[in-house]
Amino acid sequence: MATKRDYYEVLEVSKTASQEEIKKAYRKKALQYHPDKNPDDKAAEEKFKEAAEAYEVLSNEDKRRRYDQFGHAGMGGSSGYDGGMTMEDIFSHFGDIFGGSFSRFGGFSNFGGNSSGGRMNRGSDLRVKVKLSLKEIATGVEKKIKVNKYVSCSACHGTGAENSNSYSTCNTCKGSGQVTRTVSTILGQMQTRTICSECNGEGKRITHKCPQCNGEGITRSDDVITINIPAGVAEGMQLSLGGKGNAARRGGVNGDLFVLIEEESHPELIRDQDDIIYNLLLSFPQAAIGATVEIPTLDGKAKIKVDPGTQPGKVLRLRNKGLPSVNHYGTGDLLINIGVYIPENLTKEQKEVISGMEKSSNFQPSQSVKEQIFSKFRNM
Ligand SMILES: [Zn+2]
Ligand SMILES: [Zn+2]
Repeated sequence: MATKRDYYEVLEVSKTASQEEIKKAYRKKALQYHPDKNPDDKAAEEKFKEAAEAYEVLSNEDKRRRYDQFGHAGMGGSSGYDGGMTMEDIFSHFGDIFGGSFSRFGGFSNFGGNSSGGRMNRGSDLRVKVKLSLKEIATGVEKKIKVNKYVSCSACHGTGAENSNSYSTCNTCKGSGQVTRTVSTILGQMQTRTICSECNGEGKRITHKCPQCNGEGITRSDDVITINIPAGVAEGMQLSLGGKGNAARRGGVNGDLFVLIEEESHPELIRDQDDIIYNLLLSFPQAAIGATVEIPTLDGKAKIKVDPGTQPGKVLRLRNKGLPSVNHYGTGDLLINIGVYIPENLTKEQKEVISGMEKSSNFQPSQSVKEQIFSKFRNM
């Protein structure tokens, strides 16, 4: 057998790499060599599997310690560790690697394969939309949605056959599911084995179809699907739930369910990525004298103190009161953007009071206050 490459070399990380670095490196390799990006490329497929095996060992503290000490020999038996991972195994881990928002690309129909070595049917993908409030996005939420989709036929358990005697062996491939062809190449005669097109690689044919599904192995039904939506998602993001799409004809693998996120706009709060903005309009006396005001937050209300002499355009920042990052890079802030309302109509008495104030030196702004207020437009 071929010599195995060092796992650290495979992922191109140092021996002291952290779990986060290993995960990141694997993510990169998995995307690079993904079979859907490299159709019919055996070398890429090998690299894809090699990276998955390296990640399987290095991401596990126990296995990694053994590997560090004993190398491949420490991974069981003299022949080294035979990962024994199938493509399906590899993809089943993708939820952890890509944070649940990624499972696999579209097709993937060339891999997998059932026990007789044939080509496996794959159900089609489904798409649904889920509308979320900012409050739900702040905490993450579990949503139950009803989806009308193809499910495995309960009468025949998805086989499409009436019962276990409803089969005959395929004449073309004599039950092997494969046919051998001899082709001439520049290197001489070469034999290639391909999947039997007559029975689609199953090696057998159904003689009596299941009456419930007319031999398709699937029926339509309403299914309630529970979706755990992580905190911090945004409009337009798409979650994918592997295997929750349509069932495939005659016992294949299910398609995926894609969940498109829609965001309800909040009546008072504005989202800016992970930050939340609230426009607070103070009255002139509030801004001048100072005040305690109540403002809306993602989870209710908060009281904030406005200092005396607060200028319009000032932005107060409440740290970590925004939305959590969907990639776990911390939490955004709640920004309070302050404006000051100047009354449009004044009574005679009010006019007198205010014109009296105008003469006071307190009402003449200093240069530094002017710069602060007009910080958006000024000569540097
Ligand atoms: Zn059936
Ligand atoms: Zn056949």
